[in-house]
Amino acid sequence: MKIHEYQAKEILASYGVPVPKGIATTTVDGAVKAAEQLQEDGASLFVVKAQIHAGGRGKGRTKKNNAKGVILCRSVEEVREAAESLLGDVLVTIQTGPSGQLVQRLYVTDGVDIEKEFYLGILLDRAVSKNVIMVSTEGGVEIEQVAEETPEKIVKAWVEPGMPLQMNQARTLAFSLGLEGDALKKGIKFIMAIYNAFLETDSDMMEINPLILTPDNDILALDAKVTFDGNALYRHADIAELRDEAEEDPFELEAQKYHLNYIKLDGNVGCMVNGAGLAMATMDIIKLSGGEPANFLDVGGGANVETVKNGFRIILDDPNVKAILINIFGGIVRCDRVANGVIEAVKDPEIAEKVQNVPIIVRLQGTNAAEAKEIIDNSELNVISAVLLKEAAEEVSKVLA
Ligand code: GDP
Ligand code: MN
Repeated sequence: MKIHEYQAKEILASYGVPVPKGIATTTVDGAVKAAEQLQEDGASLFVVKAQIHAGGRGKGRTKKNNAKGVILCRSVEEVREAAESLLGDVLVTIQTGPSGQLVQRLYVTDGVDIEKEFYLGILLDRAVSKNVIMVSTEGGVEIEQVAEETPEKIVKAWVEPGMPLQMNQARTLAFSLGLEGDALKKGIKFIMAIYNAFLETDSDMMEINPLILTPDNDILALDAKVTFDGNALYRHADIAELRDEAEEDPFELEAQKYHLNYIKLDGNVGCMVNGAGLAMATMDIIKLSGGEPANFLDVGGGANVETVKNGFRIILDDPNVKAILINIFGGIVRCDRVANGVIEAVKDPEIAEKVQNVPIIVRLQGTNAAEAKEIIDNSELNVISAVLLKEAAEEVSKVLA
């Protein structure tokens, strides 16, 4: 689960990770008040930052006003102008894709002076099943680019599962950034604190880009991108509440309501499959047959009428879908039951209307597969049966041709 920068910084601060002062708001007046308050506390430089669930804001531009997603301001008046140019406009960054994200919230922060910019990231290194902390002197730059061009500039430390981060590891990391004296001590403290925050919150990624050294030798998280493991949210009610549905894909949100494992993609062939592995294989088959998958959808073990109906609803909401491939392996669930479920779902008036021009190819294998095929073939609906995955793929090709 993703959260906004301002929320990430609040969480980090609560674990003792130093961040600049800031106030989140949804209005221009709120932004002005925030700047006034920060000014009272001594700020003379302000930063107005669009809060969207995507990075690259500094280099992004809004569609209407051509405003940057991160704006440095020298006065409260400039904060007002920045807020006016951002709120309600759509920000396009390399991470949002061309359609961009509507800016509905701003974070007004105390603008700090930067001596040096660094990078820090924590995530699970799946290849070795350990969390890895990465730091680089190349801050403020896309880390992928650093990894590609100058990988030696990324220093990594892996943490043993079940163990806290060792002080000497934090020291090695901070030292590699060229920190010395007081700044080195603060750097070590920063790394120890953020790793603890990562563990305690069941985060699956924390990225601080840039992590900065100020002229006063302070170490601060100037930006914060934090995501959480969705499977661990049940034990973090406070974090689960931070979810901002306005930032999420509406199709995926609806799927979650139905407890379906769905990911929206850009293709033209919808697919409904039981089991994640089979779903991946089905997407491959769709590509091999000349189509592009419109989604990933794993309906799980019990493919009953209700699940199939909900699957159809979501797939058919996507106007790009030209065909649907249902690929179910009847192990626990019998194929004839699934076939009847599909037929019943397709007869549902709401679904029937939408599938008129969308052929459905059903491949059922496993227990009672022969009966299932008969049920489909005798249904006289716009449903095509297939026994082998290859046949199903050929049917998809025919439909798309
Ligand atoms: P991103 O572009 O979405 O990653 O947003 P960031 O929060 O990283 O901000 C983009 C850039 O704006 C940073 O890399 C900094 O160069 C600059 N910036 C952000 N906050 C401040 C600040 O308080 N002071 C100064 N001088 N620059 C800032
Ligand atoms: Mn950043």
